[in-house]
Amino acid sequence: QEDIFKKLIAHCKEYGFVFQSSEIYDGLGAVYDYGQNGVELKNNIKKYWWDSMVMLHENVVGLDSAIFMHPTIWKASGHVDAFNDPLIDNKDSKKRYRADVLIEEQLAKFEEKMDKEVAKAQKRFGDAFDEKQFRETNPRVLANQQKWDELHARFSKALNDNNLAELKQIIEDQEIVCPISGSRNWTDVRQFNLMFGTEMGSTADGALKVYLRPETAQGIFVNYLNVQKTGRMKIPFGIAQIGKAFRNEIVARQFIFRMREFEQMEMQFFVRPGSELEWFDKWKQTRMKWHQALGFGEENYRFHEHEKLAHYANAAVDVEYKFPFGFKEVEGIHSRTDFDLSQHQEFSGKKIQYYDPELEKSYVPFVVETSIGVDRMFLQIMSASYFEEELEAANGKKDTRVVLKLPAPLAPIKLAVMPLIKKDGLPEKAREIIDDLKFDFNCQYDEKDSIGKRYRRQDAIGTPFCATVDHQTLEDATVTIRHRDTMLQERVAIADLKGIIASQVNF
Ligand code: ATP
Repeated sequence: QEDIFKKLIAHCKEYGFVFQSSEIYDGLGAVYDYGQNGVELKNNIKKYWWDSMVMLHENVVGLDSAIFMHPTIWKASGHVDAFNDPLIDNKDSKKRYRADVLIEEQLAKFEEKMDKEVAKAQKRFGDAFDEKQFRETNPRVLANQQKWDELHARFSKALNDNNLAELKQIIEDQEIVCPISGSRNWTDVRQFNLMFGTEMGSTADGALKVYLRPETAQGIFVNYLNVQKTGRMKIPFGIAQIGKAFRNEIVARQFIFRMREFEQMEMQFFVRPGSELEWFDKWKQTRMKWHQALGFGEENYRFHEHEKLAHYANAAVDVEYKFPFGFKEVEGIHSRTDFDLSQHQEFSGKKIQYYDPELEKSYVPFVVETSIGVDRMFLQIMSASYFEEELEAANGKKDTRVVLKLPAPLAPIKLAVMPLIKKDGLPEKAREIIDDLKFDFNCQYDEKDSIGKRYRRQDAIGTPFCATVDHQTLEDATVTIRHRDTMLQERVAIADLKGIIASQVNF
């Protein structure tokens, strides 16, 4: 599985999806650029989110707020004082880690051990296997479950008490070693603020210390009144935003899973006080459905309750996906109470309230947030779509292909049009077809190499359809259309292409 992850990273580079930032200068840690295919996939992911959140919900509207904001916002939100990660250094390797992540990995190890026992038994008993009963009775599973429960309880308490000494003690008691040096020679755990700071204006006129926003949410909160008033919005309603966020993360080779510059898709939903947990539950279900609608298998998703609630939340859950390196967070759904709006009311001195005509009173709305990383979603989709398939070649020999089985609406290129040969008017005909369709779909013209090689190239970037133009095309206005997943080919009229593609690539 780890191996697949390495291959996926190489694939992302080779096929123009993701490049290391500043690569010719040896790169910049945990910062990435999206190439010609990556940017298309990323835009399609954003569209899938935006359409389902804003277009399909009458009471959700969009916003695009600036990255720079007044510095007091980050005081009010608690980020200046509390947006910290607990860090620990290994004295031998001099490597720095997040203490909480080291412990989470230890928890995952117990989970893995249990899963392995289950998989072994499943193989042995086949159809007759009852997983639930096995998990409840098998002594090895039970022993690991107990270790998991004990560690989890201790870890949650340490996080909630903000007890850094206890986090270190857990790392020592669990005999967690540095993956680089293999040593258990750890420093104390200390807090590290994740915000990037910079200066606005020249120093001569007293520059203002500003931050690169670590989340897009605050831009929504400080515009709550603007949007509610100008849009005449009635509670409950939501504001959605897609934009860059920056965090000075301590990272360990996780590719675009954890970046220092990344993009978020966030929606803040404003509700009546007291109704927030009901809405939290609704959005939890809605967001899970959104993920599962991509068709990557329901068993690959799960909810994960937080070990520690953030200072602003009264409920929080993550949507996790089974990455090649285990179940990990893709999206967070948080009930943020009235914390943010109340804080901004206090710090700005402006009344941030809603007059509820039904209740005939004013209140500070409560907020339910859905927050998902575009880049993490990108990685999730790539992990789920990447397949290496063994094929029977025409000459009887084994052949392999790498294919990205991307949901067709997300694919960077929807149709590749290929003249069988580079003469006899076939290239011109192929371009004519593209000219006809390019306003509807992202099309690519490809005439280099054999048709087989061209198909493989399109498979590798996830193109759902290839149309081949041959001599018959000139006679009867038909092409061969080849389907990515089944590799089946059929002869269709050029006039039908648009309908065939549209039926697959639109959400
Ligand atoms: P984690 O626990 O992984 O650090 P978080 O709980 O701090 O994440 P949130 O603040 O809830 O994350 O952010 C919401 C979403 O933004 C996450 O679910 C994730 O998809 C994305 N995200 C957060 N931090 C990063 C990052 N450094 N790189 C890429 N995506 C990120």
